[in-house]
Amino acid sequence: MIVVLFILVLLATFLVMEGVTWCTHRFVMHGFLWILHKDHHQVEPGFFEKNDAFFVIFAIPSMLLIFSELLIMFGGCRQSALALWRMALPISWFMM
Ligand SMILES: [Zn+2]
Repeated sequence: MIVVLFILVLLATFLVMEGVTWCTHRFVMHGFLWILHKDHHQVEPGFFEKNDAFFVIFAIPSMLLIFSELLIMFGGCRQSALALWRMALPISWFMM
C-alpha cells in the first residue's frame, strides 16, 4: 500500500513540477523577463547568452531551500555545512 502512495506522490510531483515549469516559461520568461530569454530563441554569435542568467536565478532559491532544510534537520550551521559536504563528495566523485 505504501508503494502505491509513493507512486502517487511521484506522479503528483512530476505533474505539478511540469505545470510550474510551463507557467514559468510562458508567463515569466516570455513575459517580464523576455529581455533575458530572447537570445535563447533568436540565436546570436557568442558562447554565452543572457538566458544563462536563469541558471543563477533558479539555482539560488533552490540552494537556499536545501540549506534551510539542512539547518532544520541538523540544527546548526556547522553541522549543516558538514552534512552538505558529505552529500556533495560522492556526487563530485561520480562526475569525475
Ligand atoms: Zn522560451
